[in-house]
Amino acid sequence: MQLIQNYVNGKIVGPRSDAYLDNFEPATGEVYSQIADSDERDVQLAIDAAKAAFPAWSNTSAEDRFAILMRLCGLIERDLEALAQAESRDNGKPVTLARSIDIPRAIANFRFYATAAMHLSNESHETVGRNAINYTLRQPLGVVGCISPWNLPLYLFTWKIAPAIAAGCTVVAKPSEVTPMTAYMLSKLCIEAGLPPGVLNIVHGLGPKVGSAIVAHRDTKAISFTGGTKTGEEIARVAAPMFKKLSLELGGKNPNIIFADCDYDEMLATTIRSSFSNQGEICLCGSRIFVERPIYERFRTDFVERVGKLKVGDPKDETTDVGAIVSKQHFDKIMSYIELAQAEGGTILCGGHKSEPPALASGQSDGTAANWPPANAGGSDGIGGFFIEPTVIEGLPHDCRTNQEEIFGPVVTIMPFDTEDEVLAYANSVRYGLSATVWTENLSRAHRMAAALESGIVWINCWLLRDLRTPFGGVKDSGLGREGGFEALRFFTEEKNVCLKI
Ligand code: NDP
Repeated sequence: MQLIQNYVNGKIVGPRSDAYLDNFEPATGEVYSQIADSDERDVQLAIDAAKAAFPAWSNTSAEDRFAILMRLCGLIERDLEALAQAESRDNGKPVTLARSIDIPRAIANFRFYATAAMHLSNESHETVGRNAINYTLRQPLGVVGCISPWNLPLYLFTWKIAPAIAAGCTVVAKPSEVTPMTAYMLSKLCIEAGLPPGVLNIVHGLGPKVGSAIVAHRDTKAISFTGGTKTGEEIARVAAPMFKKLSLELGGKNPNIIFADCDYDEMLATTIRSSFSNQGEICLCGSRIFVERPIYERFRTDFVERVGKLKVGDPKDETTDVGAIVSKQHFDKIMSYIELAQAEGGTILCGGHKSEPPALASGQSDGTAANWPPANAGGSDGIGGFFIEPTVIEGLPHDCRTNQEEIFGPVVTIMPFDTEDEVLAYANSVRYGLSATVWTENLSRAHRMAAALESGIVWINCWLLRDLRTPFGGVKDSGLGREGGFEALRFFTEEKNVCLKI
């Protein structure tokens, strides 16, 4: 069985413990590879390597860093199909999505920051009348920690690593133990690209063992983290007394606000995507859908009909719309929220059940319908894969638990509203504030809503239209700091002002 091992000091190495964890394939519930079960000894080795590499890497010119990172881009591009297949198998997402979004975005992340680092400039201030000039050096921090989640594995992993390395830092990184495969493949590509040993170190294993050791280590100067709000709280608790820089991209419960004057067809098509792309496992998915009353009935009918036609199936199948939920643990969490919604008085308009696992394409496993479930099935109720029908729920108040807590799956609620003030109060009533979507053709209202919504990102008449230069992040319990653009490069640097009397 394939072993997923660490990348430390330019080499692929096993964990000090010699122990491995099972890596499950969500579409079958079967173990298909083994992950290094690393601990603080492996983190220490990685930090030692990163510290040793820092002086040379931080003094490497931006042009030379650019050249290496662009070589890496070329290799990811060369292996795009293999990486997409691996991402789909490891995460359960449709391969079409991995091929069109996840892997291309990993390439874009490296390309963007390789280029951006060559445009980062320092400021100077002439202190007129006092014969002085100030200039501000912007120096890389040193060794930094990057910790990423399972929903967009390579996409979010590289979104952190790329600016850190481009800025001249050296990195100790941990991908989610649930989806480690493409980070492992990336480590091999880093070796092939000629990234100097120690610049990037990847330590696989459990969050509370590996992630916490990275956070708690005195020598990591900053932590860039994407994941759940509870984990973010724990990281802040440990890191704050050491005055580490923190970038925390956390959970969300995003509102999708639909006014009656919207471009209906465009809204409907996009709302299907913003609800169920990647099985609803995108931090930006809109899980609370508020619809202005004059079009509520029409929307409900059309939306439910379209959702019912989404194909839940084998992630390898090119026609699949909704793949498998990432893990049994997450599957159980989502199903428990569907039960909660019913207990809270919600009506399920479509979905609401686990979906029977599809007959999988040959070569992936022996998971044909006839062989289902596999003997060592890890799924719920004896079912192998972790599939859930896209689920639409109505009849719930905005302040019930289903509408307040993050579910992070293919589950949305729909609610009518009458006035702008009313829907604003509903939208802002949650502890989260990552993103919001507004559908209206009324320009003034669009701007009013954008200003009043408590969220870091507002999409107007669109969703997930990304420009990597823009600030990305949340307010309230959705996090701290902004990724993207020059902001991410600045995060990985420290400013030092030098005042020179002439
Ligand atoms: P988790 O918080 O469980 O895990 C995120 C990462 O942190 C994983 O690598 C995990 O390792 C690691 N980790 C776990 N415990 C610790 C610890 N004590 N110290 C350090 N690291 C730790 O999140 P999920 O992986 O479940 O991801 C889903 C969450 O991520 C959702 O809440 C979602 O909203 C959020 N998210 C936010 C985004 C944003 O941009 N704001 C984007 C994407 C997702 P392991 O996997 O081994 O547990």
